[in-house]
Amino acid sequence: MIIHFCPLCGTPTIRRYDGGRERDACPSCGWVHYSEMAVGVGALVLRGERVLLVERGIPPVGRWTLPSGWIEQEETLETAVRRELKEETALDGRALGVICIRNIPKMARNELYVCLLCEVAPDVEPVPDGEESTQARFVHPSEFDSLDLSLFSRFVVERYLALRPQPWPLTADFPYREAYPDAAIFSPF
Ligand SMILES: [Zn+2]
Repeated sequence: MIIHFCPLCGTPTIRRYDGGRERDACPSCGWVHYSEMAVGVGALVLRGERVLLVERGIPPVGRWTLPSGWIEQEETLETAVRRELKEETALDGRALGVICIRNIPKMARNELYVCLLCEVAPDVEPVPDGEESTQARFVHPSEFDSLDLSLFSRFVVERYLALRPQPWPLTADFPYREAYPDAAIFSPF
């Protein structure tokens, strides 16, 4: 990917050797283009043996997936997954931890998709927003074959249900909290 203008200050970029290769860089403020990343989050929410899935109203329309979406610049994985749950299912949730990370390097951008085990109140039913999600409900795995279910969502659900691993929780004692008050660490320790 070619970056013609600095995204921070708008100055036309130059090519500069940095970190082992030629990169687009800003001669004014010093910004260097290392990579394009896109980070998505997905929520795995269980209710007994059933799992919360949504039917997409945006391409690929009709595909069933875990509630998911791209994170915003200012969000952590935790705040992003709570927002996506709320948007696509109207459920208020809480992330218990990370259970799976998918990484696909592409030419346009290097993609990370992080699945978090989440919990929601036991007695509230999901409601789709009618745009991003056209259906939202708890689905039993015996129904999977009858749905146009995302292969990755299916992989996550089936492996999780088979193995029930401990998620990597959000660690409370961030070591330099003062510098990054909104930062988050997910780890097994
Ligand atoms: Zn700049």
